Amino acid sequence: MDVQQTSRFTVTRSGKAVPADQRAVLLADPGFGKLFTDHMVTIRYTEGQGWHSHAIGPREPFQLDPACAVLHYAQEIFEGMKAYRLEDGSIAMFRPEENARRFAESAERMAMPVLPEELFLEAVELLVKTDADWIPGGEGSLYLRPFMFASETFLGVRPANEYIFCVIASPAGAYFKGGKKAVTLWVSEHFTRAARGGTGAAKCGGNYAASLVAQKEAISHGCDQVVFLDAAENKWVEELGGMNVFFVMDDGSIVTPPLSGTILPGITRNSIISLARAKGHEVREEPYSFAQWRADAASGKLREAFACGTAAVVTAIGTVKSVNGDFTIGNGDGGIVTEALRADLTGIQRGTVADPANWVRKL
Ligand SMILES: *Cc1c(COP(=O)(O)O)cnc(C)c1O
Repeated sequence: MDVQQTSRFTVTRSGKAVPADQRAVLLADPGFGKLFTDHMVTIRYTEGQGWHSHAIGPREPFQLDPACAVLHYAQEIFEGMKAYRLEDGSIAMFRPEENARRFAESAERMAMPVLPEELFLEAVELLVKTDADWIPGGEGSLYLRPFMFASETFLGVRPANEYIFCVIASPAGAYFKGGKKAVTLWVSEHFTRAARGGTGAAKCGGNYAASLVAQKEAISHGCDQVVFLDAAENKWVEELGGMNVFFVMDDGSIVTPPLSGTILPGITRNSIISLARAKGHEVREEPYSFAQWRADAASGKLREAFACGTAAVVTAIGTVKSVNGDFTIGNGDGGIVTEALRADLTGIQRGTVADPANWVRKL
């Protein structure tokens, strides 16, 4: 293997990289989260020593002791972001510094060391550049998964003294099978995602672990995703397992639940709020109850609803199911405001729509 030193990273090219012709076949139908590139970044942290052993090398399994802390107490955080191949052949990322900042905030909430934001960005860009041949063309993108976990071998309950930060990359097509079509949501009556004082605003694996039983319930009712209500009153709409929600009213105004500490502060959410305001929509970050949602869908006051996040971008919500009956939003197949916001956002991300706020970072 060919090893070299660039900046603080040791670079080891994989000797088992997938050949170009095989890669082309794989990229023709990448799906989501099942195909991976040739390399990965790792940086280690040891209490007293700080961040060290910065490396990019072949993607390979970790060797973990059975007493590795993360396997027992779930001290783990992650991010999700994308790199795009633009029409001119260049590579772009969307607001990556926001992911770096949120990763630092998640680390603080989980009593983990904070990776300097510029190091996070350097690591992600290094992987994108190294595996640039894996960025799909057309509507695809390279999904990036930076994450960090407690790697110390220790069963005592306290913040670990050793961590591994890692970035892997996965070429991606559409997140939901069936592309842009509207999704059906299940409202969970028993399970909540996050409570006041908990970890709802941190992007940690534990939140997802806790959401899966509700997701399973959703699937058993023929739904695509769960929508969670608040834990205190079981009344207010919060978000999906991995996406924020928006409601479009008949007067053109838009409502989204406020960031109260129990909702993940989505970068897509923040971008949609700005884009909608720039298009002249009034956007209110205010609590919206499930009962109101049902009533507004029935009366026609609610015209559209959509979910948003990096993985699925903007996805219309067609039907909502619960133990107390189902309801449909609009014609059940999305609407023009959802579609216009989706087109704006994806256009900016792909360099075909003006980017006044400088959200796109070219590599
Ligand atoms: C990641 C995530 C989102 C979406 O965040 P983006 O920054 O828009 O990708 C929304 N909700 C949860 C719970 C998430 O984990």
